[in-house]
Amino acid sequence: MSRKPFIAGNWKMNMTVATGTKLIEELKPIVKEAKCDIALCVPAILIPAMVKAAKGSRIKIGAQNVHFADHGAFTGEISADMLKDYGIKFVIIGHSERRQYFGENNDTVNQRTLAALKAELTPIVCIGESLSERDGGKTEEVLTRQLEFGLHGVEDVKNVVIAYEPVWAIGTGKTATDEQAQETIKFIRKKLSKMFTVKDANRVRILYGGSMNAGNCKGLMAQPDIDGGLIGGASLKTDFAKIVNFNK
Ligand code: PEP
Repeated sequence: MSRKPFIAGNWKMNMTVATGTKLIEELKPIVKEAKCDIALCVPAILIPAMVKAAKGSRIKIGAQNVHFADHGAFTGEISADMLKDYGIKFVIIGHSERRQYFGENNDTVNQRTLAALKAELTPIVCIGESLSERDGGKTEEVLTRQLEFGLHGVEDVKNVVIAYEPVWAIGTGKTATDEQAQETIKFIRKKLSKMFTVKDANRVRILYGGSMNAGNCKGLMAQPDIDGGLIGGASLKTDFAKIVNFNK
């Protein structure tokens, strides 16, 4: 089953209107011929300006979070409809930094995922084990829990993108080896095929995330179950285009 590669950037809490616009202007011509889908998930307040900057290009602007309620007394949160006002399609859910610093858990990830799907947004659901969990042989157990709780009640899993991001590899410069990433993502796909159907599991795009860069992207992207990358640090510079053009 062929799945279109997908390279998504996560700007986290970086960039301003000026620096973000400049980067997008620089990226536009160099990602023109890319064979993959491309997204940049930007801070919510930058969405209007970055949508304008990316207009007419291959770059889709995405968000870094969405609230599960349609509207209401949730100070500081953003609803799916607010994102849709700007034509947003992709939204990161359950990034490990949100789990670590903002109390996100498998239950809130599940609620946000269901809300995104209901609004016809494509959730990029992040899962991944910590170093102590990997060292303790708990990787599969942790991922199973994150998938079973996080995707509970999802009807059409092919509309979900999964990002496998081992926490120990995020922002640390330590990348999982090609084999480690492939083996774990293969496990995730097998788990999805048990939770849903083999056919649907084979349609889900599963990204690797964790210090992916211009130097290591080719090896990772050559793995049969890795369909793309969620890129943090390297999405803040024009090197991002080298990842997008991984097959050139
Ligand atoms: C991320 O934020 O999802 C990420 C993978 O970051 P980095 O590429 O910087 O490790």
